[in-house]
Amino acid sequence: MADTKYIFVTGGVVSSLGKGIIASSLGKLLQARGYKVTIQKFDPYINIDSGTLNPYEHGECYVTEDGHEADLDLGHYERFLNIPTTKANNITTGRIYQSVINKERRGDYLGKTVQVIPHITDEIKRNIMLLGSKHKFDFVITEIGGTVGDIESLPFIESVRQLRWELGKNCLCVHLTYVPYIAAAKEVKTKPTQHSVKMLQEQGIQPEILVLRTERQLGKDICRKVALFCNVEEKAVIQSYDVDSIYEVPLVMAQQNLDEIVLQKMNMPVGEKPEMKPWNEFLTKMKTAQKSVKIGLVGKYVELPDAYKSINESLLQAATFHNRKLDLHFIHSEKLNDDNAADILSSMDGILVAPGFGQRGIEGKYAALEYTRENNIPTLGICLGMQTMVVEFARNVLKLSDANSSEIDELSPNKVIDIMEEQKNLIDMGGSMRLGAYDCVIDKDSKVYKAYKKEIIKERHRHRFEFNNAYKSQFEANGFKCVGVNPDTKLVEVVEIPSHKWYVGVQFHPEYNSTVVSPNPLFLSFIEAASQ
Ligand code: GLN
Repeated sequence: MADTKYIFVTGGVVSSLGKGIIASSLGKLLQARGYKVTIQKFDPYINIDSGTLNPYEHGECYVTEDGHEADLDLGHYERFLNIPTTKANNITTGRIYQSVINKERRGDYLGKTVQVIPHITDEIKRNIMLLGSKHKFDFVITEIGGTVGDIESLPFIESVRQLRWELGKNCLCVHLTYVPYIAAAKEVKTKPTQHSVKMLQEQGIQPEILVLRTERQLGKDICRKVALFCNVEEKAVIQSYDVDSIYEVPLVMAQQNLDEIVLQKMNMPVGEKPEMKPWNEFLTKMKTAQKSVKIGLVGKYVELPDAYKSINESLLQAATFHNRKLDLHFIHSEKLNDDNAADILSSMDGILVAPGFGQRGIEGKYAALEYTRENNIPTLGICLGMQTMVVEFARNVLKLSDANSSEIDELSPNKVIDIMEEQKNLIDMGGSMRLGAYDCVIDKDSKVYKAYKKEIIKERHRHRFEFNNAYKSQFEANGFKCVGVNPDTKLVEVVEIPSHKWYVGVQFHPEYNSTVVSPNPLFLSFIEAASQ
């Protein structure tokens, strides 16, 4: 294909309507037609990346292969499209300003007054087009974070306006809005959508396609009314009503021909409707699974499911693969202790101890792990979850009662988890962890090898602390094996108890590398063990 096509997904009325899912669904449909597609997210906040945001602010921090701490929507992009994203797929206002200010200091604009327009907008446009020009994608879908009308998103919307002018038919805007149902009046209301489109028009953008988020299906008359008020073709008013799973959204969009309309509007051949066989197989399995698998997720953000987004999705993908319904229970680590662990955990088929930072809730993780280790319940520990496995084993089996991670107690005489050497003198908190994909060599005689079926794997990381190799022989002599090691640094990446049914801890995050059509091998193995 000659020119890259740029599609923008903006949002109106309220946030959290699922722009990321709509962008991913459209991307999926275009990809199924054989196009090379990527999706990127532009976030209007000033943080350089989401690594320094806590999950209460912004949900999970996703990590790309190249070590970028990203918005969680990148996780959706990867899970839907089954291709990795990079640092270039997630840009913030902070990154844009940082780059412009660096250029100003270097003298790139010598003699000029540096301004929002054109310098900031030029930098935004350069970044929007970077993936298209560098990697020759057919389609670059750009999701603009926030809601139209936000002060902070103005330069992004202005950049979209300019690009539409410059790129003509190679550029298109899909605007996502909300159509609420007012129970007292027994009516759905289109006024917020009308206002939101007006706002976009005031900023110089006429969206070609509207996607209306709605709890219930809308009648044709409503779509016709929206089309009339918003200068949009009737067939280009598409509804995104509530469905049981986000993975059904591409089908809902396909039924209303979202992909075809995009192609027509961009002057491209439409062709046959794609089959999407693996995707549909996944959905059928998800809907028809009879037996369930009951998994307890032990963490401190249980009231906030977005905090463990990729873990939830990886569990669902693996359970579906094994023809199981995922019965997921969030267990608050602050509420778990030695006295109630049996009551809360004994009915679970498997326990996953979540990643995290800091002291809060950590004792509950130890209580959970002591219980599952002693009662042979399949257990997966991820990052901090793996580190707590190490500390629990040290305290209760190696009888090092004062064992700890130096993250929790710097003065512990037995720091079985310790700060990594290169982390010791860091001053900056942002982007300074051990981040991104690293090789790990796996012991052939291990459950993890059975899972991955290969000796060298690559998984993504996000941590500052590590297994302390000074204790390795002591652990191994007592049946706690280090079965995965980084070939260059010798950092321990995987631990397991071979005598246990399935007790595995990983320093890396397998959840960042699990997609609908290709669930992560470790999650598959964990769910398989839990299902037996
Ligand atoms: N807090 C731990 C560390 O920095 C674990 C991090 C995590 O779970 N992502 O090493």
